Amino acid sequence: MTTFSDRVERISISGIREVFEAAGADAINLGLGQPDFPTPEHAKRAAIDAIEAGDTDGYTGNKGTLELREAIADKHARDQGVEVDPGDVIATAGGSEALHLAMEAHVDHGQEVLIPDPGFVAYDALTKLAGGEPVPVPLREDLTIDPAAIEGAITDDTAAFVVNSPGNPTGTVSSEEDVREFARIAREHDVLCISDEVYEHFVFDGDHHSPIEYERDNVVVVNAASKAYSMTGWRLGWVTGASDRIERMLRVHQYVQACASAPAQYAAEAALSGPQSVVDEMHAAYERRRDLVVEGLADAGLDCPTPQGAFYAMPRVPEGFVDECIERGVVVVPGEAFGEHGAGHARISYATGEDDLEAALAIMAEAAEAVR
Ligand code: PLP
Repeated sequence: MTTFSDRVERISISGIREVFEAAGADAINLGLGQPDFPTPEHAKRAAIDAIEAGDTDGYTGNKGTLELREAIADKHARDQGVEVDPGDVIATAGGSEALHLAMEAHVDHGQEVLIPDPGFVAYDALTKLAGGEPVPVPLREDLTIDPAAIEGAITDDTAAFVVNSPGNPTGTVSSEEDVREFARIAREHDVLCISDEVYEHFVFDGDHHSPIEYERDNVVVVNAASKAYSMTGWRLGWVTGASDRIERMLRVHQYVQACASAPAQYAAEAALSGPQSVVDEMHAAYERRRDLVVEGLADAGLDCPTPQGAFYAMPRVPEGFVDECIERGVVVVPGEAFGEHGAGHARISYATGEDDLEAALAIMAEAAEAVR
């Protein structure tokens, strides 16, 4: 008899894939959360050199190479102005594994994890895999995460809450005031704040802030080279937090992963410590496209809170809009793929070239007109 765990039976294959499969091969795909730039040359070169020198033939330390963790600590000093001990960093298989470790190490059976709704699909699934109960917390009308709603949803069973700025699928950015509130809530209620910052370098209006600037004990930060350096295929992320939390996460990581891929560690070290102008170039391109999308959606009569970061926009859309777009050869993702409160919205990824984007916006305007 084949039996499966209750935990795995509670999750399913992401609905986003189905959307891709429904679209034709020559559809313009605005469904992917994947940068369309190449990995920086110096990062690739560092991996190739390390492979040729034989430096990648064996396991690295469980936490990752010291040099990579020092580069990550330098990044936190540079960008957040916080001192992170390289010993309090674990290099992971992408931001995804970092989220997984945070859940496994902190969530007990039946405990609640507050997640943004709409929010990145892994928060719900990884909470369930850890045996916990995801509690969706609706966003504000402008699709930003609402600290008051998080605070109001905390119960004696709350193990953690997840924040994500810039956000997927919304593209919205939390204000410094809200980020300070996340930190205060984590401290005062003694619950863990898991801050997913994989889009931190793509903020167009204002600045990125992290709760670890204001609270250290009850915040873990999840980050990755994936989006910042266009390295999704390398699978390299990291998690940082207080030493006792890192030690518990390491217990999980050593058995599920042993260590992050060694070539990817060398590439990420070079990306983090090399010239950051590559990030500036992507930032400029995404910002131009963001403006194009905002203008195109307004012209199409679709109401969209201005996305200030990442590479997503999430307009309100009329019923039937997503199917109509797919029929006309443009893939966008229905908002309900990201949670109940995503209904009535669609996620548009603009990690795609400007020509395709302009063509897609024209088609979206026709689709909106057809279903209105
Ligand atoms: N967090 C968010 C908000 C994401 O959008 C993604 C990927 O789309 C991840 C984490 C996972 O990133 P990685 O590819 O580094 O595992």
